[in-house]
Amino acid sequence: MTDPFSKKLLNWFDANARSLPWRDTHDPYKIWVSEAMLQQTTVKTVLGYYDKWLGTFPDLESLASAPVGKVLKAWQGLGYYNRARNFHRSAQIVVNDHHGILPSDPEALRKLPGFGPYMTASVASIAFDVRIPLVDANVRRVVMRLTNIHGPAVASLDDEILVFLNKVLPARRCGDFNQALMELGATVCTTKNPACEVCPVNRGCLAFKAGTQEQIPTPKKVVINQITAVIGLISKDRKFLIQQRPAGGLLAGLWEFPGGKVEKTDNSLKEALARELLEELGHPCLVGEEFCRVRHYYTTNKVHLIAFHAALGTGRFKLKKHQRWVSLNELHEYAMPSGNAKILAKLANPS
Ligand code: SF4
Repeated sequence: MTDPFSKKLLNWFDANARSLPWRDTHDPYKIWVSEAMLQQTTVKTVLGYYDKWLGTFPDLESLASAPVGKVLKAWQGLGYYNRARNFHRSAQIVVNDHHGILPSDPEALRKLPGFGPYMTASVASIAFDVRIPLVDANVRRVVMRLTNIHGPAVASLDDEILVFLNKVLPARRCGDFNQALMELGATVCTTKNPACEVCPVNRGCLAFKAGTQEQIPTPKKVVINQITAVIGLISKDRKFLIQQRPAGGLLAGLWEFPGGKVEKTDNSLKEALARELLEELGHPCLVGEEFCRVRHYYTTNKVHLIAFHAALGTGRFKLKKHQRWVSLNELHEYAMPSGNAKILAKLANPS
């Protein structure tokens, strides 16, 4: 029998769910695409990528056989590039070890790169209707309010949240139930000003009863780091010098113009860039006029990126394995971090 809580939630979802392209499919690969993209990214952003991705990689096999550079390029702008790399590696494992069929068993899914508890539960429940609860930021907030748990919304609460979810999870339509709870958090039980009067589960909500819903969860203090970085648009024979970031670490494998952070000891932006270029390239460079400034954000960093025209100084410069001279037209084929991609867009359209 369906629990009254889940029945109310599912009825509400049936009548109010936003129409999203990945909700019109039962294809596990397409559901996987949406879940891989939606982690730490808004629905609005994913809508700009989902159909394009399926145009480029319509099925698991096409993704598995693609070069990683093409996968990163298709992902460019979604951030957290490890998700793309893991997705690619997992697709290859599914093709090689599972005859190209994504397993429905959560234990088998959990072994694939990128399948943490959330991803495993979302794909297993939405694609295969496995009865398994999930916790994301929306679910965590909704359940904290339903059960009147005070404090910040931290992952250490998840065991307690899962106990609640295991009690109310229906025997069938678990994928819809999980989506409904996330949808409720995204559209009704929002961080600020939750719409309790129209909430389908308000009668059982302890925070609503106690009038504490606005105080739950306690806002987290987020410290934003301000970073100023300079990059050099080093050109030669109508080509620009770019280099690939190392295979591990932040923005692994992406391509960028050389440069780096401005240090307190630098007397000017140009001096900072000359120092960075010498350190990175092992070759002196001449820093010319400023070309443009862009801002971008990643995790809790706000980066102010300033690009300068530059040229190699005298002496022989030997290109290393991770460096390339690339024409403006070809640069669009390289996956770049979003700040560099913004500068490239300005180079392509200088007006
Ligand atoms: S009643 Fe209000 S606080 Fe409770 S779940 Fe619904 S929207 Fe959230």
